[in-house]
Amino acid sequence: MRRHCITRVLYIIITVLLFLTLTSASAFAIKDRYEVVIDPAHGGSDSGVILTRSVSEKEVTLAIAKMIKQNLDKTENIRVKLTRSTDTDISIRDRKKMVDKATTDLFVSIHINAGFGNKSAGYEIYYTSSKRGTSSGETGSKEIVEDMIESRYINDSILFAQLAQRNIEKVFPREGRGIRSAPVFVLDGLSVPAIEIELGFATHIKSKKKLADEEIQKSIADGLSKSIKEFFTSSGE
Ligand SMILES: [Zn+2]
Repeated sequence: MRRHCITRVLYIIITVLLFLTLTSASAFAIKDRYEVVIDPAHGGSDSGVILTRSVSEKEVTLAIAKMIKQNLDKTENIRVKLTRSTDTDISIRDRKKMVDKATTDLFVSIHINAGFGNKSAGYEIYYTSSKRGTSSGETGSKEIVEDMIESRYINDSILFAQLAQRNIEKVFPREGRGIRSAPVFVLDGLSVPAIEIELGFATHIKSKKKLADEEIQKSIADGLSKSIKEFFTSSGE
């Protein structure tokens, strides 16, 4: 019994040391090239929410994603992958498959919200806080390491969410609805920092006009591109 306890304590010490080594100073290793997967939500037969007679969520999310790619393709150290680059149907599962655990450093899903009435307005950012749920019973060293790695991704997701919030605030001043933790299917189980941003409400008259405006879309793309650059700079230090 005592022997078992000592072994467990040793396991915990080793895993904590391993974790500290893995995460010391920076969120993840300095790399020559970082990869971000941008997910323009909806597409094809799935229009998402409708903004105007000619513009729906799928078009706005794709336009912004393409602008982000255009911005970041100019950098030497950031590679952008889009889950779709045309107006096509793509399942959530296939979107998630674009994330390669070995090479992807960040996943950003772009959406537009809709409310039940026409009062709701503003942007909000989601991250998912648990992929395994609360563990029950005996916790072994494997579970401890998994928990630690998961909490690292959560911390990094929150870090990116804060950077995005700061930059999107410049486009939509005082319209932030906060950074929230919620089960989001497209983020759930991804082994990389990942967020979903809801840029505003298609059900709000001023909001939908802004979101359909190409200049505003460009400002959003610039804000998110800046956030991605800042994220990789801060995590590479
Ligand atoms: Zn959506």
